[in-house]
Amino acid sequence: MLIVMRHGATEEEIQRVVGVIREMGYQARPMPGAQRTAVGLVGNDGRVESSRLESLPGVQEVIHVSKPYKQVSREWKVENTVVRLTGGITLGGPDVVVIAGPCSVESERQILESARHVREAGAVILRGGAFKPRTSPYSFQGLGRPALKLLGKAREETGLLICTEAMDPDGVGWVSEVADIIQIGARNMQNFSLLRAAGRAGKPVLLKRGIAATITELLLSAEYLLAEGNNDVILCERGVRGFDPTTRNLFDLSAIPVVQKLSHLPIIADPSHGTGLREKVIPMARAAVAAGADGIMVEVHPDPDAARSDGAQSLFPEQFVQLMREVRVIAEVIGRRIAEPASVGA
Ligand code: PEP
Ligand code: MN
Repeated sequence: MLIVMRHGATEEEIQRVVGVIREMGYQARPMPGAQRTAVGLVGNDGRVESSRLESLPGVQEVIHVSKPYKQVSREWKVENTVVRLTGGITLGGPDVVVIAGPCSVESERQILESARHVREAGAVILRGGAFKPRTSPYSFQGLGRPALKLLGKAREETGLLICTEAMDPDGVGWVSEVADIIQIGARNMQNFSLLRAAGRAGKPVLLKRGIAATITELLLSAEYLLAEGNNDVILCERGVRGFDPTTRNLFDLSAIPVVQKLSHLPIIADPSHGTGLREKVIPMARAAVAAGADGIMVEVHPDPDAARSDGAQSLFPEQFVQLMREVRVIAEVIGRRIAEPASVGA
């Protein structure tokens, strides 16, 4: 439930609303906006007597948030959430952020080479899994904690921010020591204990859409993070399981404007996992930027044929250069700009 205060409501009136909400046994979250303040009521068990709030001085209206998710919804917060990262990089503002790098961290040489390349081409965030959620237990599972060290080294050398996946609550602690963004993978979108741990980690979280998750389910998973007090959540469309094996997944481009209407959270797109095929990645990256994505996540490998995971969908370095060139033009057409590495570390 959202209590919208009148334009010009006094601090006293706002505090009175906060006090009454607390008296009723719920949490109050005042949210000052450009026009007016709204006070969120958290913990609504469906039995809130809203008339008591409606009649308080300074209250304009009480909005019943009918969606199953609350804090992630546009009704709850009208303005876009802008996630602010180190070095002035923002996600959810006018800039379009490019996150790039290999699927997995494989060696010091591989990750440093990847980092140098993607930075030079214009990415601002390096991706690379230390802990890999693999369908088969016999596939490469990632180098684990040593890979986090290597990511730290890449960050130090290039100034790139780091986005890497945590697979379990223990991993959240390790990952947050080095990562600027904690990634929650598609397979873990509904791992609720992991979501709660990530929500408490004090770092921005990138939440990928589950393999067969509806948008409502994606937003409910994001709600777990916000419910833990973490507002720095970035959603990611990465394709859902389709019926047609021509592509690895069905890349749901329409999820971008759909989510933007329902939620204030930034949303990025991952055309690499979305398609699973290298030659489809550039066209779908272009399409995602045109559709209004706040960023793209792209797998790039110095030698994709030798990659230990997802080589078939990883771009060759020179293809990534082409991708960057093309998305810059598209971003400009829709009045946006690709975030520049020059601002990293500024
Ligand atoms: C990844 O980013 O490498 C990954 C495993 O992605 P997803 O969780 O979307 O499959
Ligand atoms: Mn991958």
